[in-house]
Amino acid sequence: MTSDEREKAVAVCDECATICTAWIAPGADAVSISPNTGCDCEESSLRVLDAQTVFGSEELRPASG
Ligand SMILES: [Zn+2]
Repeated sequence: MTSDEREKAVAVCDECATICTAWIAPGADAVSISPNTGCDCEESSLRVLDAQTVFGSEELRPASG
């Protein structure tokens, strides 16, 4: 296990739909890279979007559940 396993990914806050860049690592929650994400949620729940989700469609669909 090394810290090299972490990767950059795009994540979206499920609370306010703010999109930011985050570090992801196996077995860990996504952590926002920048402190200035525009998300002011007390408990931001970042959901990682894979590249296909982000770049495969022109608009994000709201989560359905
Ligand atoms: Zn938020």
